[in-house]
Amino acid sequence: MIDLHTHSTASDGTLAPEAVVDLAAAQKLTALALTDHDTVAGLPAALAQGKKRGLEVVPGVELGIQWDGPEASGGQMHLLGYLFRADDSGLCDRLSWLRDRRRERAQRIVEKLKAAGVELSFGRIQEIAGGESIGRPHVAQALIEAGAVSSIGEAFGRFLSPGRPGYEDKDELTPAEAIQLIRTAGGVAVLAHPGTLKLKGAALERCVKELMGYGLAGLEAIWSSHSAEQVRELKALAEKLGLLITGGSDFHGENKPDIQLGTGRKNNVQVPDSVLAALRQRAQA
Ligand code: AMP
Ligand code: FE
Ligand code: FE
Ligand code: ZN
Repeated sequence: MIDLHTHSTASDGTLAPEAVVDLAAAQKLTALALTDHDTVAGLPAALAQGKKRGLEVVPGVELGIQWDGPEASGGQMHLLGYLFRADDSGLCDRLSWLRDRRRERAQRIVEKLKAAGVELSFGRIQEIAGGESIGRPHVAQALIEAGAVSSIGEAFGRFLSPGRPGYEDKDELTPAEAIQLIRTAGGVAVLAHPGTLKLKGAALERCVKELMGYGLAGLEAIWSSHSAEQVRELKALAEKLGLLITGGSDFHGENKPDIQLGTGRKNNVQVPDSVLAALRQRAQA
């Protein structure tokens, strides 16, 4: 079994890249993709640790997508890139731009929280984030440290979700740019957790077909927060449209304590090795 969707301390996971690989090895996974948000900084350490532990580490990344096409439902679109050249300059430049925007957004969130009566130190948030990709989970940690909330879930529920006083939008790439960026770097683009699009049936199919027009190669049908029915619908759609089926847990360590590496929620994620073989074939094509 493998896991093709995981986060480390390079973005908003709580385990270092090496520790994610160690955990995967302890669980007897044969391959692991590290898919941090807007950064590939965790990959060198993960690849080196994979060699030590005899487990294949697949280069990955997760991008937020600015989605305002005709089907836009208020849901979220994320894209996963796999098997790209991690030193591709076009990709690295764009990821660096996204991280700069994330840093500015975190500063705006600090100002908004201050106006709402909660004082946080931006420097402390940067420390928690560890210098790479800053996200709301790091602000949530700072809110816990400041005693304003007692859990990550409460931080999002009271302050950081859309409509709450500390919410700020994030700058994101368009679907066309994001997919082409991954492909130009030699990689394969997969629609992450399509359930968060909040589309079904014909509307979902239209949206996926639009993405295929830009070069989308697969759907992440298997994911911790998809229902069994969603997994079935997504697998059927992938088969109908000739897309690859992929899967992963979306492991974030203690930032999402109910999600286990390799197995998701109550073993609802089981991804066979054949998924990676098919991805690799597609990358070489
Ligand atoms: P950002 O990329 O800064 O917008 O933050 C999004 C990240 O926050 C997601 O990748 C999740 O890791 C996390 N997240 C979003 N909503 C919640 C929530 N309700 N509880 C815990 N973590 C969340
Ligand atoms: Fe995350
Ligand atoms: Fe995501
Ligand atoms: Zn993710």
